[in-house]
Amino acid sequence: MLALRFHEFGGPDVLRLEEVPDPEPGPGEVVLRVSAAALNHLDVDIRYGTSRFGVPLPHTPGFEVVGRVEAVGDGVADWAPGDRALCFFAGSCGRCRFCRTAREALCPDLRFVSVAIPGGIAERFRCPADQLLPLPDDLDDVRAAAVMAAFGTSYHMLFTRARLRAGERVLITSVGSGIGSAAVQLAAWAGAEVFGTASSPDKLERAKALGLHHGIDYTTTDVVEEVLRLTAGEGVELAYEHVGGARFAEALGSIGKDGRVVTCGAHAGEVVDFDIVPFFRGQKTVIGSFCYSREEVVACLELAARGVVEPQVFATFGLAQAREAYELMEERRHFGKIVVTP
Ligand SMILES: [Zn+2]
Repeated sequence: MLALRFHEFGGPDVLRLEEVPDPEPGPGEVVLRVSAAALNHLDVDIRYGTSRFGVPLPHTPGFEVVGRVEAVGDGVADWAPGDRALCFFAGSCGRCRFCRTAREALCPDLRFVSVAIPGGIAERFRCPADQLLPLPDDLDDVRAAAVMAAFGTSYHMLFTRARLRAGERVLITSVGSGIGSAAVQLAAWAGAEVFGTASSPDKLERAKALGLHHGIDYTTTDVVEEVLRLTAGEGVELAYEHVGGARFAEALGSIGKDGRVVTCGAHAGEVVDFDIVPFFRGQKTVIGSFCYSREEVVACLELAARGVVEPQVFATFGLAQAREAYELMEERRHFGKIVVTP
C-alpha cells in the first residue's frame, strides 16, 4: 500500500509517499481501508521533533482516521468487514482510576495513534478494535474525520473542564483554526455570548456565520482593551485558549474577576510571563485541558450528524497531494480542517 512517511525530522520536504507492506491485523486488531484522515498541528510538531513525544522513524502521521473495516484479527467479535468507523485517538490501559472514570487521556499508559502506532495518512491503517467508534449514518466520512480533535477538544474544554454556562461571555482565541471554529459553534449553541480573535477580517466574518458575536482582529487591535470596552470594563467570564504566547497573555488579560482561562495548547509560545498579583487579587483560575473522552467524541459526532454543529472542512487532498496539504496547513491561511482522502 501507499503511506505518507518521513525518515528524518523537518519541514514538509521530508514527507514522502512510499510503498510499504500492507498491515495485517494481529489479535484484537482491525485494518481499516482509510477513506478520510484529517491533518492536525500535532502531526507537524511530531515531524519537526518538537512534540515532546518520542516517535520511531520512519513515521506515518495522522491520528484522525475514518474508514471501513477491511480485515479483523483473532478475537474481534464486534466489528466485521465493511463496517464504517472512526478510530479514537489513543489506547489506554482500561484499568487505572482515570480509565475507570472516563478520563482516558490521563492514563499513564496512553498510546497515541501516530505515536505508538503508525498514523492514517495511508491507504490502510491498523489499530486495536476497541478503539473504533461507529459513525452516525447522517455524517459523511470527510466531515466525520473533522469532528474528533476539533469538537472533542472544544467540548472537553468548554463544558467538562471550564463548566461554561448559558449567558456567560466567552473569548475564543484564533477562531479561524479547527478547534477555534468548533468552540465558536459549541459556545453559541450553549447560549454564551461569544467573543473571538483572528488574524484577518475574513476569518472573523466566517466565524460570525458560525455564531461569533464580537470579532477582534489581533493584528490591528489591542485585544484586552477591546474586550474591556465591549464588556463595560468587566472582562469575560471565560477565555478559551489554545495557541500560547501572546494569545495566552491576551486571554489572561481579558477575563474579569472570578474569571477563568482554559488552555490546551502552546504552539506560539510554551513559556509566558505571568503577573501573579492581579491573578490572585481577582480570584482568577487557569484550567489545563488535555484531549477528550470517548463519550465526548460520541456526543460531538451526534451533534454533527444532527446539524447542530457543522465540521469546517477547508479542503480535501488525495494521498498523492498529502505533502501539499501539510504545506497549506503550515502556511496557516486555512479556515477549519484539511482532510486527506486516500
Ligand atoms: Zn488507564
